[in-house]
Parts: sequence; C-alpha cells; structure tokens
Amino acid sequence: MRGIWLHRMGPARFMEIRLCSGDDRCLDNTLVRHRMLGCWRFVDGENWTTIATRTAFLFGLTGRQTGVTQGDGPGTNGSRILGFRTWVVGRTSMLQSPAMTGSSNGTERVTIIGSGPAGWTAAVYAARANLKPLVFPGRAAGKDLLPGGQLMLTTDVENYPGFPDGVTGPDLMQQFFEQAMRFGTRVVTDSGVQSGDEVAGGLFTVFQDVASVDLSRRPFRVKGDGGYECLSESIIIATGAKANWLGLENELRLAQSGGGVSACAVCDGALPMFRDQELAVIGGGDSAVEEATYLTKFAKTVYMIHRRDQLRASKIMADRALNNPKIQMLWNKTAVDVLGDEKITGVRVRDTQSGQESHLSVGGLFLAIGHTPITGFLNGQLDLDNAGYIKLKDPYRSTTVIDGVFVAGDVADSVYRQAVTAAGMGCKAAIDAERWLAEVGIE
Ligand SMILES: Cc1cc2nc3c(=O)[nH]c(=O)nc-3n(C[C@H](O)[C@H](O)[C@H](O)COP(=O)(O)OP(=O)(O)OC[C@H]3O[C@@H](n4cnc5c(N)ncnc54)[C@H](O)[C@@H]3O)c2cc1C
Repeated sequence: MRGIWLHRMGPARFMEIRLCSGDDRCLDNTLVRHRMLGCWRFVDGENWTTIATRTAFLFGLTGRQTGVTQGDGPGTNGSRILGFRTWVVGRTSMLQSPAMTGSSNGTERVTIIGSGPAGWTAAVYAARANLKPLVFPGRAAGKDLLPGGQLMLTTDVENYPGFPDGVTGPDLMQQFFEQAMRFGTRVVTDSGVQSGDEVAGGLFTVFQDVASVDLSRRPFRVKGDGGYECLSESIIIATGAKANWLGLENELRLAQSGGGVSACAVCDGALPMFRDQELAVIGGGDSAVEEATYLTKFAKTVYMIHRRDQLRASKIMADRALNNPKIQMLWNKTAVDVLGDEKITGVRVRDTQSGQESHLSVGGLFLAIGHTPITGFLNGQLDLDNAGYIKLKDPYRSTTVIDGVFVAGDVADSVYRQAVTAAGMGCKAAIDAERWLAEVGIE
C-alpha cells in the first residue's frame, strides 16, 4: 500500500495517514486527481489542514494504524477529493514524509530560512552535498520584504562578479533560485513542499515565512506561517536585514524602478546615473556619513538631510563629514516627498522647527537610516548584538552558540552588507552544516 505519512514528535503526538480508496486500487486515480489539485486537505476534528503536495504521494510508507477515519472532502478550487482513509493517533499539524524530507527518518537534515543571496547559496552548496535542503523562502510582506531578498528592490547590480555587463537584482536572484532548485533544493510554498519544475512561478510563487523555531532541543522544530512544520537536524538562518525606508509614497516606487532612489550607496553610488549629480543622503549616524563620504567620489555635491542640529555619528565620523567640502549639511530637515515620475528630480523637505517646506533639486537620493535585521521569529533564542544582528560564535565561521544552528548573510553582518559577502557566508554556512552533520553522525 502506498500513502503518506505524517507525524509529530513530542509527547503523545503522533499521527499517521495513508491515503487510499476503499479497495486501495484507486490510489493511482487519487494521484492523478491530486496532481490537478496541487494540494490535499483532510479534516482533523473541526480543522481542515492542508496536508500534502503531490511529491508526498509518489512514495509509500508503512506504519502503525490505530484509529480509522474515512470519507471524502473538498479539494482546492472547489474540487472534491474522493475516497480517502486516514489512520490517526493523536492530533497533528505537521506533515513530513521521507519523500519530502532530506533524510530517511522524516527529519530534515538542513533547513534554510531566507531566500536572498545567502539562503540560495547555502542551498546550492547543501544540495550539491546531497543534503536535499529545505528552504523557507519567505513571503512577500509589504513592498520592501520579498522572496529573493533585498536585491529585488534594485535594478542595476554592477558589482556582482561574473556579470561584466551588470544584471538586474531580480534577474540575479531568479538565477540564484534556479541554480539552487536544479540540484534538488525543495521549497515551502503555500501549497506545501515543492521542488524543481513544480515551482512554476519562480520567485513569484507564494512561499511560507518561518513563524517560529524551537531551538531548545534537537531536532529543531520549524513552523511555517502557512501551517507547514518540520523537524530539522540543522538550520541555516539567512533572513537578512531590511533597509529602513521613510515610507514615502514615491520613495520605494523610484527605488524599484531604478529611478534614482537607493538604500545602498556602496552598491549603487558608482552607477553612471549618479555621476556629477547633486545627491542627497538622509540620516545622521555613522553609516550616513560613510555613505555620504563614499558618494563624494562621484557626486558634485552631497546634501546630508538630518532632522536634528547635530550628527548622531561618532566624533571622528562627524568630523569627516563636516570637513568634506563636497558635503553640505541640511540641519533640522526631514524629507516629506520624493519628486519625479521616472527619475527623481528633487526632494520636498520640511524644517523640523519652523514647519516650512522647500524644494531641493537632486539627481539621486540615498536612505541611510539604518537596517532592521530580521530575527523576530527567533523569539530571543539566539544572542543578538546591540544593533540586533545575530552574534557569531566564531567570527570566521557561521556557527552560533547553539550547535547545529548556523547563520549567513546580512542578518549577522552589520559591516559589509553586500550580495557577494552574503553569498560567501551562505557557502560557509552550508559547508559548516555539512561538516557538523558528519561529525555528529547524521548521514
Ligand atoms: C536598494 C538596495 C540596493 C542594493 N544593491 C546592491 C548591489 O548592487 N550590490 C550588492 O552587492 N548588494 C546590494 N545591496 C545589498 C544586498 O541586497 C544585500 O547585502 C543582500 O541582499 C543580503 O543578502 P541576504 O541573503 O543576507 O539577505 P536578503 O537579501 O535580505 O534576503 C533575506 C531573505 O529572507 C527572507 N526572510 C525574512 N524573514 C523570513 C522568515 N521569517 N522566514 C522566511 N524567510 C524570511 C526575506 O524575505 C528575504 O528573501 C543592495 C541593497 C539594497 C537595499
């Protein structure tokens, strides 16, 4: 008999389900039907739970049977699933089967959280090491948090090696994604776990976020926000750090369309469109000074728009800005609108004391008001530094204070925050995870 197997580790929580028709022979019909539906649901008490993607049905398992439920139920898109039987012990919300996991006991070997350069690079390495990594790519949340990561917010990427003519951020990330999938990476979508060609929408598929993790014991438990849960021997956290934006209507629009608004001067400052221009930087901390100073290499003038009457930056950095003849300080000012249709033409600024508004003509705007590392789902289980970045146990590795938990990319890097450094950390994390799994004897 073939079917799928669900279980949930933990006290008195075990469940097994086999899908079949009354005489078992209908299973193949079930498979066909399932392919059309894309996912399967079953009722557990009063709750309908999405339980499987089609891959789960391709492999069979045996297991204990205690209670029997049978019946039929609605499929997705108004279809009906006919004839299933389930054997249930306890209750569950978790689906695992060897067909869907990276190991023979139903527990993942490596689960990767995040889908920027760090996450996909970790996936490429882990997949090529035959670890069948499972990736939670994350959901599109607002305009500034997307599957594919921060590069989805930019057009031209000219500093990623291997692309002498440059590449757009979304194209680059789609290629990362395809490379990872080619070697057997699986991803958690809203329909469950999918691999290879099943993810027809590429990075525009609706993926699940990780809502929470339990790192208190191994295997670690990972819960998706769309109901999918798994256990995993190791975890690579690659959730990045979100650039902070002002939230103005035109700001992200012009950032995403390549219209001259950016949150990364080191990444975009050298682009031809910013050369010999009047540029503005918003912010007053160390990184704002760093960004403004960097931009003076290319710009005619750099205006630093700061809402206070002195910089927040350290004295040495503040002096650097104040003594740079190309930097002009606009004290007590805040940006209230970004102007321009296809390309930025200026910024409307408001005086924080008088409330008076004025127009500043610029050919580029750079936000330097900090980053927010994405760590909320960890719920305090890993040490963070003062700025909220995950602390590495060893600065040359990807290890954390918890054995089996690795980090990669901007979520642990407040210094470089570049695609190539994030990808490099993703590589380190996958190699570290692979070696650690071998050390603890997990094949
Ligand atoms: C406007 C802009 C332009 C840039 N241009 C360049 C450039 O030209 N060159 C360059 O080298 N760098 C550039 N950067 C920096 C570069 O984008 C980052 O350094 C890089 O993307 C970091 O990679 P990462 O994988 O660590 O994180 P990210 O790219 O931030 O990816 C993190 C991923 O994790 C996902 N995620 C978050 N929380 C969860 C969760 N709970 N569950 C599942 N998934 C989750 C997110 O949705 C995201 O997909 C730019 C940045 C910005 C903002």
